[in-house]
Amino acid sequence: MRLIVLTPPYNLILATVSFELIAECSQTRARAGLLHTAHGTIETPVFMPVGTLATVKGLTQRDLGDELGVRILLANTYHLYLRPGHELIRSLGGLHKFMSWPHAILTDSGGFQVFSLSALRTIDDHGVIFQSHLDGATHTFTPESTVDAQLAFGSDILMALDECPEYPVSHEYARQSMHRTLSWARQAKEHFDRRLAQSQDLPNPRSALFPIVQGSMFADLRRECAARLTELDTAGYAIGGLAVGEPRPLSMEMVEATEPVLPRDRPRYAMGVGMPHELSEYVGRGVDMMDCVLPTRNARNGCLFTSQGRVVIKNTRYRDDPRPLDENCRCYTCTRHSRAYLRHLFQSGEMLFAVLATRHNIQRYLDIMREIRHAIISDSFPEYLKCVRSAATNAE
Ligand SMILES: [Zn+2]
Repeated sequence: MRLIVLTPPYNLILATVSFELIAECSQTRARAGLLHTAHGTIETPVFMPVGTLATVKGLTQRDLGDELGVRILLANTYHLYLRPGHELIRSLGGLHKFMSWPHAILTDSGGFQVFSLSALRTIDDHGVIFQSHLDGATHTFTPESTVDAQLAFGSDILMALDECPEYPVSHEYARQSMHRTLSWARQAKEHFDRRLAQSQDLPNPRSALFPIVQGSMFADLRRECAARLTELDTAGYAIGGLAVGEPRPLSMEMVEATEPVLPRDRPRYAMGVGMPHELSEYVGRGVDMMDCVLPTRNARNGCLFTSQGRVVIKNTRYRDDPRPLDENCRCYTCTRHSRAYLRHLFQSGEMLFAVLATRHNIQRYLDIMREIRHAIISDSFPEYLKCVRSAATNAE
């Protein structure tokens, strides 16, 4: 996990991504750490904004990096593979250069989008054949090809191809699907190691591959999958297949089943979660990394997350409200503009609304993560969690 510097002639740093534990909560599974990548160190637990098409909709890279302090974001392999294409991005120096983003990038494997966006798909043990949602053209994703695409991007963290079953499925289907995900993870890891050892012209030779724990909503399958994946000894592990329509207590139960099996000294990434009040719940169960489209997508739809709860900006009561959106927030939107102005922009369909709303919602998520991290380090996380829970109950 540490930097390994080879002596000449192999004068390059082969270290991938390493994780340093800084503090652990004495009562819960929460941890604070540092995730070191070729594009900087990230404080964990961390929330990663989603930049599907190499852009977080509505924000410039300056907003994200310099003003909001984002140090890692997520981009989607499925979308970038289809348009503009991974080879084009590689020829332009990789994704960091292409989008002018100096900080870390995590890309997913593309599997989730194939299953959620592509109407026609065929899955077998070799991979998945699907039709593009853009033009209907047929493509194939294999464990190897999605590693190649992500290596072409130069992502800091790559995800192994997995099958994310819908909810609910039978135990038998979930078991077969989990075994497919397992063998895909092995193939992806083998291919990744080989490519990294051979290639001289990768945009980012210091990348790491994370496999994904699946198993639907069956604790025994989750545990088995996690145990088998740890044999791959990767730099980190993801928990996928959550927030696919199941009741929230079940998502938490799956994380609880998985987490003790995963090595303590590697980061755990819960994919596609969650609501603001759920972030501390996942962290309390040992999760270090999360991503979700909620803060950005909801912002564009006029749903804003504040320290006092949710604000649906189109409500008439904000028509002449001179107060900032969130009096406790120090973001550009809250320090400059009133709720009345934001509502006016929203009602008029102005693009500035999406800009201001996204900026605030991302700030809110990052503030929550900073509060959580601070609480873990100062050993007050259990009290913090209690406050979040009682605020969530009162809001219902
Ligand atoms: Zn704000």
